[in-house]
Amino acid sequence: LFLKSFAFTILFLSCIAIRLNLCLSSIPSSLKSIPLEGHLKFDQVSLSHAARDFGNRYQYNPMAVLQPESVSDIVATIRHIWLMGPGSHLTIAARGHGHSLQGQAQAHGGLVINMESLKVPEMQIHVDEGNKSPPYVDVSGGELWINILHETLRYGLAPRSWTDYLHLTVGGTLSNAGVSGQTFRHGPQISNVQQLEIVTGTGEVLNCSAENNGDLFHGVLGGLGQFGIITRARIVLEPAPTMVKWIRVLYSDFTAFTRDQERLISAEKTFDYIEGFVIINRTGLLNNWRLSFNPRDPVQASHFKSDGRTLFCLEMAKYLNVEEIDAANQEVEEHLSRLSYIPSTLFSTEVTFVDFLDRVHISEVKLRSKGLWDVPHPWLNLLIPKSQILNFAQVVFGNILSETSNGPVLIYPVNKSKWDNRTSVVIPEEDIFYLVAFLTSAVPSSNGTDGLEHILSQNKRILEFCERAQLGVKQYLPHYNTQQEWRAHFGPQWETFLLRKSVYDPLAILAPGQRIFQKAI
Ligand code: FAD
Repeated sequence: LFLKSFAFTILFLSCIAIRLNLCLSSIPSSLKSIPLEGHLKFDQVSLSHAARDFGNRYQYNPMAVLQPESVSDIVATIRHIWLMGPGSHLTIAARGHGHSLQGQAQAHGGLVINMESLKVPEMQIHVDEGNKSPPYVDVSGGELWINILHETLRYGLAPRSWTDYLHLTVGGTLSNAGVSGQTFRHGPQISNVQQLEIVTGTGEVLNCSAENNGDLFHGVLGGLGQFGIITRARIVLEPAPTMVKWIRVLYSDFTAFTRDQERLISAEKTFDYIEGFVIINRTGLLNNWRLSFNPRDPVQASHFKSDGRTLFCLEMAKYLNVEEIDAANQEVEEHLSRLSYIPSTLFSTEVTFVDFLDRVHISEVKLRSKGLWDVPHPWLNLLIPKSQILNFAQVVFGNILSETSNGPVLIYPVNKSKWDNRTSVVIPEEDIFYLVAFLTSAVPSSNGTDGLEHILSQNKRILEFCERAQLGVKQYLPHYNTQQEWRAHFGPQWETFLLRKSVYDPLAILAPGQRIFQKAI
């Protein structure tokens, strides 16, 4: 009897295994039946590539990678998976340039859509001859910002709002916000979009704007890829300058530094770009700087001792055209005369507009050549209310962080009035808040202060302090492990976020790598 029941159990288990296997093995062939202009890739190289991102910490292979040639390819794929119903475990992640930090563009065992292969619509610039409305460009959701810059410059135009690094896609940055030194004036990139074309989680294609399908439009902006795939975006443009006057000055007094930053972002007439960064215990600072800047007074600069101190660098840029150079210089002088930086630390240089905007790429090339680009990046980005920034700085820059040689720590304020509260992005409640970005690189297999474990525990201490001191901080490019944490992140916006998910992606097919919702099986 025992042998009989044992044999029966084995038979039963084998049947289940065969069924499961059949189910799983039939998925690729079912995917192959999707009518496509582009194609699906199943080879190991493509799968491993789709499982990597800039963060270099999470790696989950998908089952297949779609190289779409048309919006219909994306629609057909989503519909196919939608029609498989909740019984299928398949999910879909749009992958822009894969510059996420914690696997946000990955789909474990699912499908990754390589958005960069979507080349439609071709970039088209529109200028209103009567100058009644601003010019704009229509671009594919998979387009890189660097390509948009080069194309729009052919017409003497450029987008108004940027990120510090341009080798990112439109869909990727609009799913977060897209911030940089122009945000104080123009708002994030999500405040500079007029229309979107979206393929929802049910495979429906919708054109949307603030007026038309406004709920989807606002939901997708800053929506972490949860409500649909951005296949087209209409980006507002402005006349582009040819040159940029790029200035850095130093402070040792944090209050003076932030007072000047806040004054600059609130003034009517001011710089076109305002950022800043923190320097803790970094040696040879001024010598390094001389490589990229022509200090105005090198003799004084070389006497300035930076070693071992905490300094705050205010970075500003003024756009200019060659024919207006004198007037621009005069304006810059006037702005600078109102600031209280350490006088011997004024560094100023002039570069082309393209070199200025694409400045991080120059660092990328250098780091790649030294094998330092494809390392783990345990970045932490925080949005901090103005009223708490001093408290934050005292504890974090004074106690938790002992140096900033593993990567830059950016700090700059932005105006909340330039953000649209109908979008999905979560920001602090005050009129001015700071972006503080710890852009750290870890040395692989190091156990020291430059190793991943140390940096992660430092990030944890920073987050725990923010929580304990109730600073009202929000994560930018947020990452959490539990839905409870996501609820806390969204706060009062959670219900809207949840409702939008149930309307536009009810099976939770899209962007599983954000780990907010799990597909019901
Ligand atoms: P991916 O990493 O490919 O995707 C990000 C998320 O968006 C994923 O969830 C993905 O599924 C989703 N997604 C991608 N495409 C689409 C689409 N078409 N439709 C819907 N969802 C989509 N951010 C700033 O704001 N300011 C900066 O200055 C800045 N500098 C950076 C510098 C570097 C070197 C790096 C690596 C990142 C920087 N970032 C910055 C962060 C960056 O904006 C985000 O990581 C962004 O998501 C990366 O874009 P991506 O095209 O690589 O997106």
